[in-house]
Amino acid sequence: MEFEAFIRANEVPIRLGFFFGIFAVMAVWELAAPRRPLTQPKGVRWANNVGLVFFNSFLARLVFPTAAVGMALFAREHGWGLLNHFQVPYALAVVAAVIALDFFIYLQHVMVHAVPVLWRLHRVHHADLDYDVTTGARFHPLEILLSMLIKFAVIVVMGPPVLAVILFEIILNATSMFNHSNVQMPVRLDRVLRWFVVTPDMHRIHHSVDVRETNSNYGFNVPWWDRLFGTYCAEPALGQLGMKIGLEHLGPPVCLNLFMMLRFPFVATLGRYVGRQP
Ligand SMILES: [Zn+2]
Ligand SMILES: [Zn+2]
Repeated sequence: MEFEAFIRANEVPIRLGFFFGIFAVMAVWELAAPRRPLTQPKGVRWANNVGLVFFNSFLARLVFPTAAVGMALFAREHGWGLLNHFQVPYALAVVAAVIALDFFIYLQHVMVHAVPVLWRLHRVHHADLDYDVTTGARFHPLEILLSMLIKFAVIVVMGPPVLAVILFEIILNATSMFNHSNVQMPVRLDRVLRWFVVTPDMHRIHHSVDVRETNSNYGFNVPWWDRLFGTYCAEPALGQLGMKIGLEHLGPPVCLNLFMMLRFPFVATLGRYVGRQP
């Protein structure tokens, strides 16, 4: 398909365009109407969080010769995957694939909280002591590589249209920056939006130091999985302004620098929380 060829040829500029565009919008919105006061020096946090993003992008390019879109093309060429095997209307296949990919991201998120060795990687994301647009891209490189491998496996089994994969990548990137941002919006708007997309007030609860709250709101795109599987939490016990963000066992406030973030899974003790239900 010509459209798919265009996407394939321009995947990097398309994705970078969305990334920088949405990042800029959220960063300005955070400045203009912040939800909570930040507790850490912003310049230091941003330098390290953004540094980690660049490091991860470089590493992912180095390790994987193809991105998820390339994997979808490969699956189609070889007739692999359910959606390449059965005759499904194109539009239906795109929508079903985007929703299914999101469901697997939800499951993966629950898994990295439940398995101690994976929690070691994932807690780099949770160790951020403030919560803003840069938190949304702050993941340990090994977790990024793990999620790429899981995504490749899902694509091979599902055989999604190429359009669905690139749409999903763009949507996931966009919603992650949106729902990690420190933006203020009317509570009534938040409540309506929450039926369709994970909002900042909803995902922020997942970053609470309260274990019951860390074990909730795993969704990144759509909020339905949390509601369906009983992991939804509407409000933090101490409220959006009173709740503490981060990992309690880290002790006195520390702002992890890039080197410490890379090393973090291998050095620190697991602490009291290892993803189990209290
Ligand atoms: Zn998490
Ligand atoms: Zn998060």
